[in-house]
Amino acid sequence: MAVNLLDFDLEGLTAYCESLGEKRFRAVQLFRWIHQKGAADFDSMSDLAKSLRAKLAGVAEVRPLPVVSEHQSTDGTIKWLFDVGDGNAVETVFIPEEDRGTLCVSSQAGCAVACRFCSTGHQGFSRNLSTGEILAQLWFAEHQLHKRMGLAPSERVIDNVVMMGMGEPLQNYSALVPALRVMLDDHAYGLSRRRVTVSTSGVVPMIERLRDDCPVALAVSLHAPDDALRDDLVPLNRKYPIHELLAACRDYMAAAPRDFIMFEYCMLDGVNDSPEQAQALVQLMRRERVPCKFNLIPFNPFPASGLKRSPRERVLAFARVLQEGGFVTTVRKTRGDDIDAACGQLAGEVQDRTNARERMARRVISIAPASEVSP
Ligand code: SAH
Ligand code: SF4
Repeated sequence: MAVNLLDFDLEGLTAYCESLGEKRFRAVQLFRWIHQKGAADFDSMSDLAKSLRAKLAGVAEVRPLPVVSEHQSTDGTIKWLFDVGDGNAVETVFIPEEDRGTLCVSSQAGCAVACRFCSTGHQGFSRNLSTGEILAQLWFAEHQLHKRMGLAPSERVIDNVVMMGMGEPLQNYSALVPALRVMLDDHAYGLSRRRVTVSTSGVVPMIERLRDDCPVALAVSLHAPDDALRDDLVPLNRKYPIHELLAACRDYMAAAPRDFIMFEYCMLDGVNDSPEQAQALVQLMRRERVPCKFNLIPFNPFPASGLKRSPRERVLAFARVLQEGGFVTTVRKTRGDDIDAACGQLAGEVQDRTNARERMARRVISIAPASEVSP
């Protein structure tokens, strides 16, 4: 099979070009064509020698992911389902905001962490995405939307990437890091480290490695103030308990591009949403001294979970306790009640793609927009 050039960061592409007898500056040119201009056809790369274009056409390709479906909500949010083969699909969500565009990217088909409140987790793990499959989501969204919006070549659509789609990015570390490097590379997407966020359920050794290899913004899915509850909600906690996780977060600060860790907390009715639990969280963070902010996510229910979303007043009361405790807290605003469109929730529907397509066609999308409100 042809070599997929989306699998390479600039260093990798340079090595590949050298293996074809080409110098580094050719790799830079090629890299810019692919990621800055969105080119996939080597013939269109007019400043590359004809001989190189012919050579590349014989051995390499820029391999996009086939689109299964696209849905747009009234607020402009767009969600794509991409086919990754063998009946698996992953989702990517574009969230336009006034001053920026955010892309929510998947790292795995399924997820092995099996959090109780996550439908991707309930689905089980299918496989890791390759670097090329992670980047194909960004490559497609950026250039597709750029074209649709009729923007100038220098303008960018996406200036913020969050690894919050399907999968646990830190359990796909070797594919993740080159993908992050391409996001950050000035010859590619040129995103600021502060605007690329890895969200993790807490793979402690990999948080440590990320700090050394490619320190981008870090979000940690906490969901509970103590180990007993977190063991139950996020099974990975049995391996890496809260104390170790928070120590890794503290260490991460030495290299982090932001001066806080974002803790995500999914609000589950009667499970983790009491004022006492909020108070316990305040105590925990004071004790552990992790500079942090909280983002409370109202749970997006799905039938198999047996869980319910916390009522709005309870979410706001929880947020108030955290704020009074001195922690900046935001509540992710959820619009509409179409739960199927929420992050991670398409995972279960792609085993049979024919059915998935039919269901997708009937679906009206409504996703939590990126705008956040302070309580
Ligand atoms: N695996 C990573 C990133 C993907 S999940 C992680 O767990 O951080 C991205 C975010 O969506 C996480 O904070 C996760 O807790 C949250 N999430 C998962 N299922 C959800 C649901 N049903 N309702 C609300 N948030 C959910
Ligand atoms: Fe995996 Fe994140 Fe879902 Fe947990 S919340 S099962 S880590 S994708």
